[in-house]
Amino acid sequence: MAKKFHQPTRMCVSCRIREPQCNLLRLQCFNGELTAFDGTKRSFYLCQSCLKEEKKLLRALMRQCKSPDKDKLMNKLKEIITDDRKS
Ligand SMILES: [Zn+2]
Repeated sequence: MAKKFHQPTRMCVSCRIREPQCNLLRLQCFNGELTAFDGTKRSFYLCQSCLKEEKKLLRALMRQCKSPDKDKLMNKLKEIITDDRKS
């Protein structure tokens, strides 16, 4: 049996779907602050379909960041996504 190239999969914290890492947005939280992943903190993943569902998304972010500040989380997320597309 030939060995197939195996892509690592990660789980979306919101819907728990498993996807190849490259299809997911990697985020991290520190002291209740949402930030882009820089390799230093505990990270989590969100899939593209959850990113389109604001309510679902916010629930996951609030849980991950242990922060009730929806507006702040949402603004930060939009900032991270915009930066991500630039690079
Ligand atoms: Zn998802």
